[in-house]
Amino acid sequence: MQKKNEPVARELMDSLFERLAPCCKVLAQEPMCRHTTFEIGGPADWMALPASATEAAAVIRVAAESCLPLTVIGKGSNLLVRDKGVRGIVLKIGEAMASLRCEGEIIVAGAGALLSDVAKFAAQSGLTGLEFAVGIPGSIGGAVFMNAGAYDGEISSVVEQVTAVSPDGTIREYSAADIRFGYRHSVFQENRCIICEVRLRLRTGEKEAIEAVMADLTRRRESKQPLEWPSAGSTFRRPPGYFAGTLVEQAGCKGLRCGNAQVSEKHAGFIINAGQASAADVQELIRRVQERVKRHSGVDLWPEVIILGEE
Ligand SMILES: Cc1cc2nc3c(=O)[nH]c(=O)nc-3n(C[C@H](O)[C@H](O)[C@H](O)COP(=O)(O)OP(=O)(O)OC[C@H]3O[C@@H](n4cnc5c(N)ncnc54)[C@H](O)[C@@H]3O)c2cc1C
Repeated sequence: MQKKNEPVARELMDSLFERLAPCCKVLAQEPMCRHTTFEIGGPADWMALPASATEAAAVIRVAAESCLPLTVIGKGSNLLVRDKGVRGIVLKIGEAMASLRCEGEIIVAGAGALLSDVAKFAAQSGLTGLEFAVGIPGSIGGAVFMNAGAYDGEISSVVEQVTAVSPDGTIREYSAADIRFGYRHSVFQENRCIICEVRLRLRTGEKEAIEAVMADLTRRRESKQPLEWPSAGSTFRRPPGYFAGTLVEQAGCKGLRCGNAQVSEKHAGFIINAGQASAADVQELIRRVQERVKRHSGVDLWPEVIILGEE
């Protein structure tokens, strides 16, 4: 039975490749562990790597015409991809869309630019407002999608405009008000548009002072977070009135392990991949931590990490 189906599957794969390849760079059966900071995740059937909003729109059209699911990722720093991988097309906004330019107090960044590179570019350009972002390892597109923040700063405070492709393939501009930012929330979590370019409004500052703040925040991060291990950052959203890491520690979960996934000894808010952990290990550990915290303090913890892929 399986043998009989194989040529059909191959034909479908070939015809899809023929349709995707003219749109942009395409990879088949691409291991997602290469595209996540957790270093976990089975293969994506297809990975498309567009170099412009127009290319991204072309991939959306192919996915729709082929009735294939489309999953958008950036740097993969807030993702847990399941072990069976991702069916359909993963569209990665990465290095091919990472341009940076400065226009007075505005920085225009391709959505694939790393947030830390945008922050350093701002410092070199003598612009203040992005110091908080220097140690967040995602792309600027992912940062807008998540409304990433740290040390009392949030990307929402500096975004002026975003160019995004909608699921029907049209390209449109969003003002900051259109984006309806909230805690780790933006409108893009509802409308599933693909963020392609971000305009940030910063203020003129003093290069040395900006760099000193960034160096201080980097030191603080390095001393508190388990950056020497693969992870996806904070595992849980901050419950109102609490810190997730403190709740996890108080529930006695520091160091707790499932397979090779472990609650960090350095910062209980992080689950780390302590060596070849599977997504199933991480999911089971998340479940056990949620259970223990609920029993100990009565608080429900919800993952901040986004879980993707075939169950
Ligand atoms: C060590 C470490 C420290 C961290 N510290 C922080 C921190 O201090 N503060 C914080 O907020 N986060 C932190 N994070 C989490 C993470 O870096 C952020 O959430 C980041 O904004 C995610 O960006 P990304 O490009 O990696 O997105 P991904 O993880 O690739 O994707 C996250 C979500 O964004 C969507 N997405 C990504 N790019 C696009 C795009 N171009 N268009 C549309 N949707 C898109 C994806 O579909 C997915 O749903 C940390 C992570 C790590 C590993």
